[in-house]
Amino acid sequence: MTQSISDLSKEFQLKPGQVCGVLDDLGIDHDQATFEGDADILELVREALTEQQGSKVIILKPNPTPRDVAAALDVPQPEVQKTLMTKMKVMATLTTTLKPDVAEKLVAEFGYELQWADAPKPKSTTVAKPAKKPTGAQVRPPVVTIMGHVDHGKTSLLDYIRKANVAAREHGGITQHIGAYQVELPEGKITFLDTPGHAAFTAMRARGAQVTDIAVLVVAADDGIMPQTIEAINHIKSAEVPMIVAVNKIDKPGSNPDRVLTQLTEHEVVPEAFGGQTPVAKVSAMTGEGIPEFLELLLLQAEVMELKADPKGKVEGTVIEAKLDKGRGPVATLLVMEGTLKRGDALVVGSTYGKIRTMTNYLGETVETAGPSMPVEILGLSDVPQAGDRIETAADERSARVVAEGRQMRDREKSLHAPTRGMTLADLRRRMNEEETKDLNLIVKADVQGSVEAVKGMIEKIVSDEVTVKVLHSGVGSITEGDILLASASNAICVGFNVKPEAGAKKEAERRKVEIRTYTIIYELIEDIEAAVKGMLEPKFREEYMGTVEIRMVFKLSRYGLVAGSHCTDGKITRNARVRVTRGTEVVYDGKVDSLKHVKEDVREITQGFDCGIQFDNWTGFKEGDVVEAYDLVQI
Ligand code: GDP
Repeated sequence: MTQSISDLSKEFQLKPGQVCGVLDDLGIDHDQATFEGDADILELVREALTEQQGSKVIILKPNPTPRDVAAALDVPQPEVQKTLMTKMKVMATLTTTLKPDVAEKLVAEFGYELQWADAPKPKSTTVAKPAKKPTGAQVRPPVVTIMGHVDHGKTSLLDYIRKANVAAREHGGITQHIGAYQVELPEGKITFLDTPGHAAFTAMRARGAQVTDIAVLVVAADDGIMPQTIEAINHIKSAEVPMIVAVNKIDKPGSNPDRVLTQLTEHEVVPEAFGGQTPVAKVSAMTGEGIPEFLELLLLQAEVMELKADPKGKVEGTVIEAKLDKGRGPVATLLVMEGTLKRGDALVVGSTYGKIRTMTNYLGETVETAGPSMPVEILGLSDVPQAGDRIETAADERSARVVAEGRQMRDREKSLHAPTRGMTLADLRRRMNEEETKDLNLIVKADVQGSVEAVKGMIEKIVSDEVTVKVLHSGVGSITEGDILLASASNAICVGFNVKPEAGAKKEAERRKVEIRTYTIIYELIEDIEAAVKGMLEPKFREEYMGTVEIRMVFKLSRYGLVAGSHCTDGKITRNARVRVTRGTEVVYDGKVDSLKHVKEDVREITQGFDCGIQFDNWTGFKEGDVVEAYDLVQI
């Protein structure tokens, strides 16, 4: 049925422009006077209008005329024209298009704030509406990463799948290594990232790029869960991507796939067979047994996820791998995530740029275009980008260069100034105050399994109303580069008990501003974390002895008041020193020097053998014979 905008505007005491704004927000078609809607729609509109009451915001479509403004504000048209001419000195007919700043000023003259229809709306006007899907969104292949312990068969599994299923059989299944490839099954395609290992996975995530849709955890049936399996589980969990387990090497005599399933539950990965969420495939990368079923599981998972992308949309993508080739220059493998990349496109890639000279697929064939989930290797960039860098297209190479150079400058500035990511315990309170975080994520490494368990157990007992303490990953051994990457990607702190960071990890931590804290006493570790959680973690200071001064005479200066005439008997005393004054065995003052003079001049310091006049901060109770010990507080 047809509803009148002017009725609603009267009922809710809102301007017609505000009612139209709400309709736009709800995605309801309307003209200036009416709209169509059944009872449900009207109820939705009424709810939104109630929320709007009292608001002084008018929403207009771009390029409004004085007539549009008059209608939106429900004021007579001549009044709008008069305001334009007399108050704003703008000549306009009723159908002249107003410049944005003029329209804003005009609306302000009537006491309202103008917001443009496609600009972000104020919170109160946003009413739940169905998520916008790109118009041409189509199903795209899932992007899969394979992780697991060394030698459990990640590479063999990828190789087997590639040889058996790679699209162009006429190539005999020979593929170029470009960091990713696609397999084509009757049911659909799957893109595999050919860079197994969680370092690559998390390094990309640390750069803000999450390209993986599904993570596969490979566990060898004869070996069971090993330290890097646990690490991989934690990396996957922290990335919050769905996991599929491939229990590999089931052909091996003595292998025990069911034992792996039980072990998984101990790490909170519950297989579907046990009533949990995680699909498990039993495979052999040697004989190929179970691999078709495994691929089916991947496609099934992808279907559930409804992965879609618009091949006609704006190009978005990520760098998977990049290197400098002696003959060809910078070579980069890109994964397109949205839109379609074409040969000849000008690109901004992270802080580098270029124009796609040639584009090849994983079979080494030249291609003209690459759509969603398709990995391609490109030539033509001016420099080597980093894995995880985002790609965008630009109008031409020149504008790509301008954008890239701007980024380079920003990056340089950033690296000179504040840390970009990473977290320190002392940061926690500040970030909590600014509501930036409510989690304290930790990575715990210790010398033996017993201490790992003990530290984890105690940390998990720390409770606070404000902060959730989470151990993202724990393990035996020194703090590795992988730990730092995970910490950086998930804003965590690395805690070591009886272990130290490896040299590479230390450097990476400095670069990524990740805090490493090492302890040898478990209670100190727990105390620090407790203190941080409760916001009481004070930086630790150590006193550093500076020197000793004896007060030999107390005198009064008319302009300054009481002064302690003193003699430095050892070391030195400075104008900024902290001091502790003792009389006999009693400490009579602990504070700071307020002024330090030699004869009548202010001085910065007095060394052994010299006289000086001292005044103390907020204290004049000194006496002849008092001994002043000067010290410094040094942060540990
Ligand atoms: P990655 O380190 O996880 O990439 O492991 P690889 O793929 O390099 O495999 C390690 C070893 O296990 C190699 O010697 C493989 O031949 C062997 N291997 C891998 N998968 C299987 C399997 O399903 N069955 C058997 N018997 N051996 C396998």
